[in-house]
Amino acid sequence: MEFSFSAASIRKLYGLLYKSNNILIISHTNPDGDAIGSVKAIKGYLSSKGYNASIAIPNDCPDYLCFMDPDREIMVWNKEPERVNSFIRSSDLIILADFNSLSRIDDMESEVKASSACKILLDHHPSYENGSFDMVFSQPALSSTCELLYWLFAGLDKYERRDRGLKRSIPLSPETCESLYIGLMTDTNNFSNSVIPSTFKMASDLLAMGVDKERLQHLVFGGFSENRMRLMGHLLLNKMVVLPEYQAGYILLSLQEQKKFGFTDGDSEGFVNMPLNIKGINISALFTENESNIRVSLRSLNNFSVNNLAKRFFNGGGHEKAAGGKLFISLNDIPEYFKTSLKKSLECENK
Ligand code: 5GP
Ligand code: MN
Repeated sequence: MEFSFSAASIRKLYGLLYKSNNILIISHTNPDGDAIGSVKAIKGYLSSKGYNASIAIPNDCPDYLCFMDPDREIMVWNKEPERVNSFIRSSDLIILADFNSLSRIDDMESEVKASSACKILLDHHPSYENGSFDMVFSQPALSSTCELLYWLFAGLDKYERRDRGLKRSIPLSPETCESLYIGLMTDTNNFSNSVIPSTFKMASDLLAMGVDKERLQHLVFGGFSENRMRLMGHLLLNKMVVLPEYQAGYILLSLQEQKKFGFTDGDSEGFVNMPLNIKGINISALFTENESNIRVSLRSLNNFSVNNLAKRFFNGGGHEKAAGGKLFISLNDIPEYFKTSLKKSLECENK
């Protein structure tokens, strides 16, 4: 049930790491548990091997994930762009985790593109951007980037033991195990989506290594504010729209409502899944109004590809069953736009 990478790719990665001096680890805008889990786990792993590694992301962690970075070691581009840019310029190896195209790091894209550092992609989204990376580990079959990392660390460890003639491996630190578990837990929506046998094997290994799953469960899914619970009630009662003809449901969240309920980043985590709890509903969407655009979150329970829907109608992408994007129209126009996008996509699928 273990997942493994080819010996040649592990050897090549090991060599690239070995000859690097300054490593920068980057993940995507609006980071989620898998993004933060990945960058923290990579940094933890590399530091334990004596590498010099730093982390940068385009915008800050949502409140509910701040506990993952107690020492504030993650640099945030939109808080200190010059500092992050100088790290990008002085790195000779850049590791990009949990996204498949450089457009997902927004304002950091141009500096990363301009850098001559070796760029390694570690990701699980389908269809990575060709030509942007020097080496790619992309496994859409895996539940999360954190799962990919777990099996990658195992492969590197095996290679290193042979290379150095070591009898025993160096165990992953408790913090690294926790980071990996959080990525696994959040990207699978608590082990309900995208789970394959190796996912449970990894979870089982991590528990055996001492991860306290109740503690993490509470920190990630149980530490929400009262405001967030009230907002959830309001959305369920007054805002959720069900479209039985498309087996779909959606929710619009306006700026005015965000203000009323003291909304902070991350408060809407999980809201997109709510319509999917209704019998017969297989597609759902959450539209969140921002100052400059509308953030779109899409989910499906069946074979309907929200990745295609996001690419075609919502300026985005993602996975087959979980995707996202942006829209530049008024919130009032969303209901018609969403229905038309579903109609056209379902017509296409039924052809
Ligand atoms: P979420 O709905 O949780 O924000 O995102 C779900 C999935 O869609 C994630 O895998 C995320 O990486 C992807 N995603 C979200 N927003 C975008 C976007 O603007 N562009 C692309 N390409 N993918 C996105
Ligand atoms: Mn992910």
